[in-house]
Amino acid sequence: MKDKEMLLDGQQKKTGVSRRTFLKTVTGTAAGIGISQMFNPALISALEKALETHPVLWIQGQGCSGCSVSLLNNVDPSIADVLLKVISLQYHPTVMASEGETALENLYHIAEKYKGKFSLAIEGAIPMAANGKYCNFGELDHKEITMVDIAKDLGAKAGSVLAVGTCAAYGGIPAAEGNQTGATGVMDFFHIYHIKTPVVNIPGCPSHPDWIVGSIVHLLTKGLPELDDDGRPVVFFGENIHDNCPRVKEYDAGEMSEKLSDAKGCRMDLGCKGPDTYADCYKRKWNSGMNWCVDNAVCIGCVEPGFPDLSSPFYEPA
Ligand code: SF4
Ligand code: SF4
Repeated sequence: MKDKEMLLDGQQKKTGVSRRTFLKTVTGTAAGIGISQMFNPALISALEKALETHPVLWIQGQGCSGCSVSLLNNVDPSIADVLLKVISLQYHPTVMASEGETALENLYHIAEKYKGKFSLAIEGAIPMAANGKYCNFGELDHKEITMVDIAKDLGAKAGSVLAVGTCAAYGGIPAAEGNQTGATGVMDFFHIYHIKTPVVNIPGCPSHPDWIVGSIVHLLTKGLPELDDDGRPVVFFGENIHDNCPRVKEYDAGEMSEKLSDAKGCRMDLGCKGPDTYADCYKRKWNSGMNWCVDNAVCIGCVEPGFPDLSSPFYEPA
């Protein structure tokens, strides 16, 4: 609980975040905003103007929808409220009722109306082989629209793009050894098609809901967050997991876990990739702050470029 309170703003509890603290948080000097802060009045006020002019459109390519599930798993506050009242999410294939040509027409309509302003969230890699036919996005006037088509069209029109999850950021599992579909991450895809729209990578397999919503909020209120060399917001991905791990003292003392069920000990001999991984999971935790990978298994470096090939086998030392 203590950690969770610290995460909220360093000093104040869930319901008491001041405007000054909020602004400090979204400008990237604190631990990074989380979904639990979404209904703070200061945040609502700061977002009011942005909501009118900056809708978020979410499209999905070659992935498992795990990042959407991760986002939707948030329980307090209800993610439905976050998506509809805090973020103006106007297209998301997993949660919207509309479908088929009607949905696709509306997607293009919004993209045109808010050209240069809307944020495009891309989940999943973009399969470029076979002229994009591995991922058919939909159909308009009996013409097939592939993920390649839609990523090119909307990517060029967006004001900013969020590559949500490691598949969208770096190719991830679809781009692992044996990649048959030409699965490609968004930045590499934009480079190939000379699309200049700024991209924020929010990797993770899946990505954490706080990382997703926090990055969107930053874009809407303050513009692009500070990014590291791999295009990730420093506020969420600026710290090394091993250096900050609660078990690093045991590592220093040479006390190693021998099996995953060991309650104590460093997991390095069991394959932990924490030393090569940068993310704030060790303090943000998962499942609404319940636990994180190292509590029950190992860090498999899911936020790093080159995942999963570079961190495989997961349960063998690097
Ligand atoms: S469990 Fe992993 S992250 Fe933690 S100290 Fe050991 S190697 Fe580092
Ligand atoms: S602890 Fe490691 S494997 Fe787990 S979510 Fe964080 S970066 Fe990914």
